Amino acid sequence: MTSEAMVAVRGLRKRFGRLDVLKGIDLRVPRGGAVALIGPSGSGKSTLLRCINLLDTPDAGSVRVGDRRLDFDGRRRLPPDREMAAFRARAGMVFQGFNLFPHMSVIDNVMSGPVVVKGVKRDVARPMALSLLDRVGLAGKAGDHPASLSGGQKQRVAIARALAMEPEVMLFDEATSALDPKLVGEVLAVIRDLARGGMTTVLVTHEMAFARDVADRVAFMRDGVVVEEGPARQVIEDPREPATRTFLGHFH
Ligand code: ADP
Ligand code: MG
Repeated sequence: MTSEAMVAVRGLRKRFGRLDVLKGIDLRVPRGGAVALIGPSGSGKSTLLRCINLLDTPDAGSVRVGDRRLDFDGRRRLPPDREMAAFRARAGMVFQGFNLFPHMSVIDNVMSGPVVVKGVKRDVARPMALSLLDRVGLAGKAGDHPASLSGGQKQRVAIARALAMEPEVMLFDEATSALDPKLVGEVLAVIRDLARGGMTTVLVTHEMAFARDVADRVAFMRDGVVVEEGPARQVIEDPREPATRTFLGHFH
């Protein structure tokens, strides 16, 4: 891991109507690093992730992923669609829900991005998809349909599908919140292996022990601002800010 930031968010602002959701967020994620976003419901964690991959369009500030930066300051016009689409492909996102295509087999789900979006030939995409399924422990399920999988397996397919686009950063938004508690561990294990294997990662989680153990750094958000950011263990075990202490108190 070098100190160069793979993701750099500066002065990011986002409103929905009169609701000021992000009030000037700065966040850096080193190449190969993992940052966990924690904070109460409604604090803007999902909106921040969605702004990093442009599912939500920032009102102001800049977002850089790798060597590409988009500025939203004072622009009346958005960057061109092509630029937005190219930028979006740099980040893979996994949501709480599984979002798989139900009518497609597991391997077709994983191949669909490369084949449809990037125009990769199926006979090239297939072995790559199989190796990703192997990486998430599901090579044996390639021909199955999502309906026959457990929630944990579906979420692992969703991770493989995001990886198939060869993103520069993976964004996880409460990837285990919808799972039966018995199935949480297998998904966290895949995320942990990815993060430890050098994938640049931003994850929103309510699993504080996981944030402490997997992330290098933790950012605590409240009301659209980052209240405290620091080394994961320090923020989780010995937070500096009273608001962080109060929030973490609910988990102890
Ligand atoms: P978190 O993920 O931390 O729970 P969110 O980013 O989902 O927070 O939401 C922050 C605030 O923005 C909430 O008040 C939420 O209701 C609001 N919000 C999020 N998305 C939208 C949207 N598309 N339209 C209007 N309000 C939204
Ligand atoms: Mg959220």
